[in-house]
Amino acid sequence: MAVYGGIEAGGTKFLCMVAGGPQDIRAETRFPTTEPDATLARAIGFFHAWRQAARQPLAALGIGSFGPLDLNPASPTYGHITSTPKPGWAHVDIAGKLRAALQIPVTLDTDVNAAAVAEYRWGASQGLDSSIYFTIGTGIGAGVIIDGQPMHGLLHPEMGHIRIPHDRQADPFPGVCPFHGDCFEGLASGNALRLRWGQPAEQLPPGHPAWELEAGYIALALVNQVCSLSPKRIILGGGVMQQADLLPLVRQKTLRLLNNYVQSPTITAGIETYIVSPLLGNRSGVLGAIALAQSILDC
Ligand code: ADP
Ligand code: ZN
Repeated sequence: MAVYGGIEAGGTKFLCMVAGGPQDIRAETRFPTTEPDATLARAIGFFHAWRQAARQPLAALGIGSFGPLDLNPASPTYGHITSTPKPGWAHVDIAGKLRAALQIPVTLDTDVNAAAVAEYRWGASQGLDSSIYFTIGTGIGAGVIIDGQPMHGLLHPEMGHIRIPHDRQADPFPGVCPFHGDCFEGLASGNALRLRWGQPAEQLPPGHPAWELEAGYIALALVNQVCSLSPKRIILGGGVMQQADLLPLVRQKTLRLLNNYVQSPTITAGIETYIVSPLLGNRSGVLGAIALAQSILDC
């Protein structure tokens, strides 16, 4: 059976995996994201070492990366990271460098589209041809599956940066997005929680007012997407969602905001199966990269 390489290239860490699928993981490693050359060299070293030890080829490499990314195959800068504020990473040809070093087919998508693909192929949205995967982590992003394919559109969705109502009397915090201040990510990311409350999200106890506010912002974003794209399921991943009280609060507030307008038994009778946790846990992104690698050879 063919085995593939997968990389989840995150702003804080890289996860690399060799696998045939979630039941056939051959090797994995993770390391911090530092400057581009050193970080990519470490990933390349991991795959080289595996091929040498296993005496087996990798059929292809998939990458799920932080962005923004150029995903237009007709563009001269296809496969490049574009305007990221992350120091050193703007305009890095991430797909090209890995292809040149490993000499195998390489494909790239956003980290969140990759996670959405993995959950569709093997996880919480299996069998549903439309879904959204949100990560509520250090930042916020979302991947979208429409008609069984990751959605790109003009560039790719940037749902972390949608605008949501911000009542400055109830929440005077100005937001942390360097581009927009109080966009969704600016108000509700792990970074926003840390700066608004003066401690990291994992230290905010259950029952802290942070969680009511946080659930309210996430519910607003979800309602916007239910009304825009009508996904058949919404998956909420990322470190902040590890706060166990948060998911039930988000479900409750989303129902309240929808106010019985969107009439589907999937939502009204089954909110617990409509807004769910990822089934692949914190491996959604890197397994999505494996799924992307498989899909190059399928077409
Ligand atoms: P990243 O987004 O950097 O890839 P994660 O998805 O792990 O990484 O998200 C990290 C964020 O999650 C941080 O802001 C951290 O404070 C927050 N976090 C981690 N664990 C918890 C927890 N148990 N409860 C709430 N927030 C958490
Ligand atoms: Zn923003």
